[in-house]
Amino acid sequence: MTTWFLIIDCNTFYASVEKVFRPDLRNKPVVVLSNNDGVVVALSQEAKDVGIKRGDLLFKIEELVKTHRVHVFSSNFVLYYDFSKRIETVVRRYFYDVEKYSVDEMFIEYTTDKSVDEIRETAKKIRDTISDEIKIKVSIGIAPTKTLAKVMNRYAKKDKRYQGVAILKDTNLLQKALFTYPAGDVWGIGRQHSKNLAAQGITTAWQFSQMNDNWLRKNFSIVGLRTARELRGIRCIDMELHPPDKKNILCSRSFGKPISELSDLKAAVSAFVQEVAEKLRRQKSVCKSIGVMVMTNPHRKDQKQYYNSVMLELPYAANDNLTLQEIAFIGLEKIFRTEHLYKKAGVFVNDLFSSENIQYTLWDNAAKISKRRHLFQTVDTINTSLGLIKLGIQKGTEAKHSMRQTKKSPNYTTDISQVPKIDMD
Ligand SMILES: [Mg+2]
Repeated sequence: MTTWFLIIDCNTFYASVEKVFRPDLRNKPVVVLSNNDGVVVALSQEAKDVGIKRGDLLFKIEELVKTHRVHVFSSNFVLYYDFSKRIETVVRRYFYDVEKYSVDEMFIEYTTDKSVDEIRETAKKIRDTISDEIKIKVSIGIAPTKTLAKVMNRYAKKDKRYQGVAILKDTNLLQKALFTYPAGDVWGIGRQHSKNLAAQGITTAWQFSQMNDNWLRKNFSIVGLRTARELRGIRCIDMELHPPDKKNILCSRSFGKPISELSDLKAAVSAFVQEVAEKLRRQKSVCKSIGVMVMTNPHRKDQKQYYNSVMLELPYAANDNLTLQEIAFIGLEKIFRTEHLYKKAGVFVNDLFSSENIQYTLWDNAAKISKRRHLFQTVDTINTSLGLIKLGIQKGTEAKHSMRQTKKSPNYTTDISQVPKIDMD
């Protein structure tokens, strides 16, 4: 039996998802912008071909956008996340140990006595199923370690001969692959280290992997040594099937338009509380205190500046929206000042602990606590499939505090009112 790692990576994911429901955009350049429509965060191959890069500011590429008729989208994370989930569902039909590494990447650990050719065929089948069912193209890299799987993934994506699936079949190929692979592109090395390496004449992954262990440990710590060993084919990084729980949770956002009214800030804070509370419940944590912060726009020197935050104790350890919101609102009212234009607000919780062993005191209203807990278990169940239930205060105020996103595509797959309609007349 041999253990292999596969990485499945979606090609130009956000841009590809945007194209699924827009067949008119096939083979056309598409870019996707950051939260506030300022920066290019993702782009299709056609957009790369006309010279646009990730990180470009929208106003700087306006000429290119016009000349090449580039289609510009605001980012629609609801839609991307839903596609990500669907792809994961397909992969889980074939494999048990699946690690969701990012919204568009998955690691799989696969122990088998199948031949290299058989494994390649299985991977091709998954690639085709995802393409048929979800309409997204993926590249699959396969190797004995995660780091090498990432290397092979690059070849699967860039080298047409592989047709999207590249398996590290022998040591011959290992050398060949690492000889031309830039050291700075190796998973875990990173850009700042790559400059460091170049200064010492190390430019390829192969050179890095051949450095001696003492030198590696001294210059790049145990992490660098681990990466080099992974490149040599020695497994050092395991699957992370259960990502570690977060110790602090923060949810904050800038507003598309500045806010001056307390009621509008409350609507924003309520939405942040909801996100924080959902994260708490997902990792089965509760918190004993909650913080709120507000700030004006520091770049607008012409406006009165204000920043404040406050942390308040909860009456009991909780993770339900109602309790958290009650206290967050008290905090917000404490720090709110009129006559300011608020640009950003946030909600944060620290000192989390497990919801499984909470000790209540005699004075806690056990009936109320348990009622709220059941209520939000139900809410979570419904929201996982539909994402619709919110506390009343958020209703109707979304447009005011939401991010500036003027070019957002519809939520085709999660909101029935936004599915494409066909006119039969
Ligand atoms: Mg990708």
